[in-house]
Amino acid sequence: MDTAVRAEALIDLAAIRDNVAAIRRRVGTAAVMAVVKADGYGHGLVPAARAALAGGASWLGVANVEEALTLRAVGLESPRILSWLAAPGERWKAALDANIDVAAYSLWQLAEIVEAAEHCDKRARVHLKIDSGLNRGGAGPSDWPALVDAALSAEADGAIRVVGLWSHLACADELGHPSIVRQLKAFQEAVEFAERVGIRPEVRHLANSAATLTLPETHFDLVRPGLAVYGLSPIPDATPEQLGLTPAMTVRARFALVKRVPEGEGVSYGHRYVTSRETTLGLVPLGYADGVPRAASNVGPVWAAGRRRTIAGTVCMDQFVLDLDDDSIAAGDEVVLFGPGTSGEPTAQDWADATGTISWEIISRIGPRVPRHYVGGGT
Ligand SMILES: *Cc1c(COP(=O)(O)O)cnc(C)c1O
Repeated sequence: MDTAVRAEALIDLAAIRDNVAAIRRRVGTAAVMAVVKADGYGHGLVPAARAALAGGASWLGVANVEEALTLRAVGLESPRILSWLAAPGERWKAALDANIDVAAYSLWQLAEIVEAAEHCDKRARVHLKIDSGLNRGGAGPSDWPALVDAALSAEADGAIRVVGLWSHLACADELGHPSIVRQLKAFQEAVEFAERVGIRPEVRHLANSAATLTLPETHFDLVRPGLAVYGLSPIPDATPEQLGLTPAMTVRARFALVKRVPEGEGVSYGHRYVTSRETTLGLVPLGYADGVPRAASNVGPVWAAGRRRTIAGTVCMDQFVLDLDDDSIAAGDEVVLFGPGTSGEPTAQDWADATGTISWEIISRIGPRVPRHYVGGGT
């Protein structure tokens, strides 16, 4: 780590590339849409997208139009990009002008897309979403026939082309969960209905990371992995290594201060940690504004001077404290919050377990104040 760096997120682009290549080998003929929403799960939208394309992804998936436009603006012209979340008044025309595929969940969305398409002399490429049981986005089974019907007439009018039929799973990370079979069946029925009345999609897609890695029957024409692209395991029973994945993000910092304190001293806000003997405290310049969960107070795992340690006391906005015993550590020495886990350091999964959340949240919330440094590029 560069000695001038206070803290950083080191991003291994070769790991992202190789994770996508590993996913591709696993899914065989299905195409891979690398999901790069939320700043590439914290890894950097554009670098993550480029690395995923180098690994063989042919599609990129994002939540909103701004993310999609950013990808086009940096010159990523050829991959298909799907943007799937919109509110009324969305910038549909900008999306269509930039050749971005959009999703329609409802009649009002479809109507807005059709209207935008009329103003840009090109057919909108639309992915119709069925809600197969997540009960989040998408048209429920009772609204599906009307949405398909409206899409067919918009196709006949030359305004749109339905290129995708898709859905999203609720419990793919829980092997054998009964909802998986139910959702798969509901999805297949919705697809059959749409195809029977004349929809001819290029791609049918359902699988997130967990389904991509464990449920081949959900692959259809295209899979949409996010977490696995970044090398983390979406299922509790398997490590990244067992899945052929390498975690791409390491978050580390340098001690800002190291000092001795007596026994019985309260540490950090609220004095929720009290020294049990005379000891050395080390100050780490990362806090909850950087994405270190405040829930990691007294439980967050950290690697320093060849040992795992636990955060002492409350995580503050910009900093937290470690109790270093009598170990010889100096200001400027390195602390690793999480990384691949191959050199003893904790993993994002360890952080998720310690703080009662999921690894998706740990990596995607590393804040903009933590500079991203890239290795393994040139891909
Ligand atoms: C975020 C997202 C994904 C990727 O999910 P992972 O669990 O990270 O693989 C896929 N599809 C949709 C619709 C999503 O919102």
